[in-house]
Amino acid sequence: VNNSTVTRRRFLANGLALTSTILVGGTAVHGKEFLASKAAGSSVDFSALRKDIKGTVVTAADPEFKKFAYDTLWNRLRPSNRLPQVIVRVANDQDAITAVKFAKANGLKVVVRGGGHNWCVPSLRKGGMMVDLTNLTKVLSIDTEKRIAVTEPIVSNREIMKALNAKGFSYPTGHCPPVKMSGYLLSGGMAWNQGVWGPGVGSVEAIELVTPDGELIKATREEHEDYFWAARGAGCGFFGIALRYHLKLYPTPKNIAGNVYYFPLDQVGPLGGWLSSLAPKLSPKIELSLFVVTAPANLAEKCKKDNGKIAMVTATVFAESEEEVRTKLKPFDDCPVIDKCLEKSIHTPLTFEQLFDSSGELWPGDMRNQVDAIFSMANLKDMMEATKEHCLTMSPQSVFMFAIFTGPAVPVKPAADAAFSMTGKLYGGPWTMWKDVKDDAANIKWHLKCVELMKPYISGHYVSETDTVQFPDYAKNSFSTKNWAKIAELRKKYDPHGIFFAYFDGLN
Ligand SMILES: Cc1cc2nc3c(=O)[nH]c(=O)nc-3n(C[C@H](O)[C@H](O)[C@H](O)COP(=O)(O)OP(=O)(O)OC[C@H]3O[C@@H](n4cnc5c(N)ncnc54)[C@H](O)[C@@H]3O)c2cc1C
Repeated sequence: VNNSTVTRRRFLANGLALTSTILVGGTAVHGKEFLASKAAGSSVDFSALRKDIKGTVVTAADPEFKKFAYDTLWNRLRPSNRLPQVIVRVANDQDAITAVKFAKANGLKVVVRGGGHNWCVPSLRKGGMMVDLTNLTKVLSIDTEKRIAVTEPIVSNREIMKALNAKGFSYPTGHCPPVKMSGYLLSGGMAWNQGVWGPGVGSVEAIELVTPDGELIKATREEHEDYFWAARGAGCGFFGIALRYHLKLYPTPKNIAGNVYYFPLDQVGPLGGWLSSLAPKLSPKIELSLFVVTAPANLAEKCKKDNGKIAMVTATVFAESEEEVRTKLKPFDDCPVIDKCLEKSIHTPLTFEQLFDSSGELWPGDMRNQVDAIFSMANLKDMMEATKEHCLTMSPQSVFMFAIFTGPAVPVKPAADAAFSMTGKLYGGPWTMWKDVKDDAANIKWHLKCVELMKPYISGHYVSETDTVQFPDYAKNSFSTKNWAKIAELRKKYDPHGIFFAYFDGLN
């Protein structure tokens, strides 16, 4: 049997919305890959797997296959040329173990689907098995004495923070409410209050995971330390299935508060320069960002000349008293262009719930997205001057944003004991968002041009918020040279048969 033909026929029989790329251009590639694997298309009998799994097993022959493959994806811009051969939506640890062992025995490569929030969708690969963690949604324990919480992977930033805040504690979660711990903690974790708490991975104490041999282990600094090292940063190149995270907790800051300023777009360069020079003098308790976004309705008229775009500065302080809020935010009183400010709010008390609400508004769901977030050592003035004209034509929903790391220790040395190894003075870039499929080409073109303009100032990418699918270099550039090589060495050592899809397997 010609395996590529079988695969193709099966896809067609199920009426999947495949593009001509996969049906015409993809057949040869598909065939080569499938022949290279023992699974070879249709030759795998999944009946034993179906029997042994408590959760759900679906293949292309099942009517709900497409739903399983796509429904938990955040990005509406989805690849149509990559689908697994089988999806195992696990119900428990044993399912994950059984799935990996079955994949190994049958020559299927494995990819993990966590929350489906990675913008470039590395959880869809051509062929193989997707192990889908969607049902693992529990915060298992919160020990306020030991300051440790244990959580399953599919718990969102908002959910974990809500559970912890109720007990007076917090964790350095990501910024947007729906993103899950799952892949966030494997990426590095650009966190709230990162200046004090560090990135998400810095506060992971242990990870329970299934290895390529189908063994459940607990990786810590002392045990299975190579897995522990790799899991904290390797992102979509990690060779295991993380089932539980043990998280170090911090008392919730008593007085969180924020300043927000709106300026005309032509101030974005001067603002960038001022914020870059101010940031090292500020407390690391301040999270500082400069945005270009669409103006709020009440300022729209004033921004007409800039195609509705506005510059926004936000400074959020994670303080312990109202007095500390005032002192820490005092330097903002000396903004050199304050006379140009269109609107401001000062010292507004905030909760994590409100911070999530604001981020949720800026990064709404149900959008088509192209994203590249980078690290930079540049002066923000240069980055902003280089991109400001281009921002005039950004789609109304897009966000162009840079966090300017604060405090005298910036750029913070990345943790020596984790794969996550990128740092800089700035973090951010274009989150290009649009609604309609007919606008794909224009927005993707706009996005690529924006990254091109930023290029002279880029010192590295962030593995989970950049397009590692189309631009393999962006994955490599998300790590120090040493750590990129070490990830490859560890994969070779612990996954010598390539059970887990590596960064670039099964994408084209
Ligand atoms: C709206 C939005 C806001 C965001 N904000 C932030 C932010 O503030 N800070 C930040 O750091 N990031 C942010 N991100 C990026 C996000 O953290 C990463 O893309 C992360 O990978 C998403 O996790 P996931 O479980 O949804 O990944 P998925 O898309 O499900 O998986 C991506 C890949 O990660 C690997 N993976 C995921 N889970 C596991 C697991 N349990 N075991 C083994 N491998 C796994 C797999 O290789 C998988 O292919 C944001 C993303 C979105 C959509």
